[in-house]
Amino acid sequence: MNFYSLNKQAPSVSFKDAVVQGIAPDRGLYFPESITPLPASFFENIEDLTNHEIAFLSIRQFVGDEIPEAKLKEIIADVLDFDFPVVELEENVATLELFHGPTLAFKDVGARFMARCLGEFSAKENNEVTVLVATSGDTGGAVANGFLGVKGVKVVILYPSGKVSDIQEKQLTTLGKNISALEVSGTFDDCQRMVKTAFLDEELLKNMQLTSANSINVARWLPQLFYFLFAYKQAKSKGKEIVFSIPSGNFGNICAGVMAQQLGMPCKHFIAATNVNDIVPNFMKTGKYEPKPSIATISNAMDVGDPSNFIRIRHLYNDDFETISKNISSYSFTDEETKEAMLEIYNDCSYVADPHGAVGYLGLKKYQQSHPNTYGIFLETAHPVKFLDIVEDTIRENIDLPKKIAKIMDKKKKAIAISTYDELKNYLLTK
Ligand SMILES: *Cc1c(COP(=O)(O)O)cnc(C)c1O
Repeated sequence: MNFYSLNKQAPSVSFKDAVVQGIAPDRGLYFPESITPLPASFFENIEDLTNHEIAFLSIRQFVGDEIPEAKLKEIIADVLDFDFPVVELEENVATLELFHGPTLAFKDVGARFMARCLGEFSAKENNEVTVLVATSGDTGGAVANGFLGVKGVKVVILYPSGKVSDIQEKQLTTLGKNISALEVSGTFDDCQRMVKTAFLDEELLKNMQLTSANSINVARWLPQLFYFLFAYKQAKSKGKEIVFSIPSGNFGNICAGVMAQQLGMPCKHFIAATNVNDIVPNFMKTGKYEPKPSIATISNAMDVGDPSNFIRIRHLYNDDFETISKNISSYSFTDEETKEAMLEIYNDCSYVADPHGAVGYLGLKKYQQSHPNTYGIFLETAHPVKFLDIVEDTIRENIDLPKKIAKIMDKKKKAIAISTYDELKNYLLTK
């Protein structure tokens, strides 16, 4: 399958080139040239399919023959080796738990899938790729873990010193092998600026194949559509119209949900729930897309002031405001409301939600006020333990560290401290 740039100023490329490049030379996002809906029988009989079969059948058309079928099946089996349960909290309200992966973040699936695709491509060409990524917390851990041990790929992660949680720092800095962590004295924006400078640095680009691993990469974005199909499979027997509420930051996850809908998945509506970074809720009110500097919140993986993937959603709905409004509602919530929701979920349903999931819950509840007879699924995108301080303070209970986290807390941190772009460049050129 070929992918074109949404800026339309760059040539179409293969799946492989879209994955290796990440973003098109005209800075546009790549988009598949065609989307063929799955046959009706796929959805009629979905409960008879395994998750691996669902994933293979839904993503095969986008990969095309660039990865042989047997290899693609192997990659899928390797990536999806954990569960995606839908847990019902009350009548018509359920949560889809996406945090059972190795770093307890929903980004695990996209990061692992991209890592294995890139590993497959670079193994064939004997051409080493360096993945450079800036993280404010969650992305780095998922990417580091996903790429660990992948041959032909080196990963360099920049994170702001003192600004990620202890758990997140351990997830980034204790792996070794092909993963290096650079601890930047500065903010996340400084890390991101350094990464962007590197991607434009001719001297670096002459010396290495550099790529990014953020959610604009098609190999990170597309596999997220599996979640919605897995949820549909579990909720279908309810016999109700299904709506999904997605806590959104860069809008990659919800955009994958829209993709599942385009593949034919019956789904009445999507709710894009945000924190006070309300660019999309405002767009849905006014029809104007106005990016703003991001504001820090307790659901910090969604602190995005210019959500990159929203343009793909507009494109999927032919950039028609009426079609978008028919399919998507978007609401924004404050930290205070988020904490109240965490407490409510805990007291009423004995369930511990993380701040991101709680924003999703709020979005769903708001929509269901006017659509009470829908079956609502909100996505739980991170395990509450990853936001331990805020969760424990809010529900006033201690929560236990899961085994896979407790294990890494004893490992020794290995990171190289840097403070300038020149230090980063020097590291990349000499490592
Ligand atoms: C990245 C992230 C999100 C936002 O996902 P997008 O695809 O960027 O909208 C939500 N919750 C958590 C925990 C995340 O890490």
